[in-house]
Amino acid sequence: MHYLDHSATTPVLPEAAERALSVMTSDFGNPSSGHRLGLDAAHILKESRALVAEALHASPGEILFTSCGTESTNTAFFGAARRRRKGHILTTATEHAATLSCCKRLEQEGFAVTYLAPDESGHIAAEAFAAALREDTILASMMLVNNETGVRLPVEECGRLLKRRCPEALFHVDAVQGLFRLPLTPAKWQCDLMSVSGHKIGAPKGIGALYLRKGLHLPPLLYGGGQEGGLRSGTEALPNIAAFGTACAVRAERFEADVHHVTALREQLLTGLRECLPWVPVNGEGDVPHVVSLSLPGCRSEVVLRVLEGDEVYVSAGSACSRGKESHVLRAMGLPKARIESAIRVSFGPSNTAGDVEALLKGLTKAAAMLKRDR
Ligand code: PLP
Repeated sequence: MHYLDHSATTPVLPEAAERALSVMTSDFGNPSSGHRLGLDAAHILKESRALVAEALHASPGEILFTSCGTESTNTAFFGAARRRRKGHILTTATEHAATLSCCKRLEQEGFAVTYLAPDESGHIAAEAFAAALREDTILASMMLVNNETGVRLPVEECGRLLKRRCPEALFHVDAVQGLFRLPLTPAKWQCDLMSVSGHKIGAPKGIGALYLRKGLHLPPLLYGGGQEGGLRSGTEALPNIAAFGTACAVRAERFEADVHHVTALREQLLTGLRECLPWVPVNGEGDVPHVVSLSLPGCRSEVVLRVLEGDEVYVSAGSACSRGKESHVLRAMGLPKARIESAIRVSFGPSNTAGDVEALLKGLTKAAAMLKRDR
């Protein structure tokens, strides 16, 4: 099998799976219980929080566990909105559905939202961000790394501009595709809030985290027993939390080697494309090596995916959450319809090999020979 869809989700690291199993079967206490099993569970919770905090160069008190990146973003948006009740939100047209759906909902509730358009390379200039800020801006939100193109947005500059022009506004960064692709430094970037997700880094699905700058208080989404400092009630998903902490520790140790490895795979793919399929354009100027979006104009994405799947090569047409829909990211970049309809997203993980890239190139060449009509 050649799995090249790590932006959609990743296989669980064996170390993370073992940790989850031992927490499920041995250390299964409720962290809120007063007996020894509960205290042991509370200790695991504390340890795991510290590991996730380290991955974000944050302090443990700034990490809130959630069920996924989507919940982290919803907590940030609806918390920020309830705190101020009206005003302007600044975001980009290339965000993930988690952010765009929060924006749409808040527009219905009376908030004004500006969606910044990217240029053809997928980038958004900090100057455009600055020009769109308003006196009543209460929240700015942007992704660190785009899930479809690998383009990196200028969060550091935007954080600085926001805090200079609108010191009361909150800054949220969706770093779901940034964790262990780039070093994350939310404090340096003047972020108040940052969303991350476990299943993109080798932890199971069902665990995410929200970085909340020290001293910031937001109204919660969930009310109940007051877990997670009252911001996210509900018994903590300790097996997933422990696995997330373990995945962070494992990935941190291998970070530089992994980036180096994935960069070589990307180069192999781009060289192979130039040699075998020189007419295939790459969409956007990806800044991280993990994601490459390409198009086979004349060959519809879903058919190419089926051909590749026949040879056990797994990639996607774009975001897994927008399956079957035309990519709003490529559309916002102003790409021609033929490129949007034939887009293929390749996303690497540390476990990929040169053999996976060879299989992909072979599969793409086969699909193009079968499907492309105007050649
Ligand atoms: N933000 C980005 C950029 C993503 O790629 C994803 C998932 O693909 C999410 C948010 C949502 O994360 P989750 O699947 O953990 O809800």
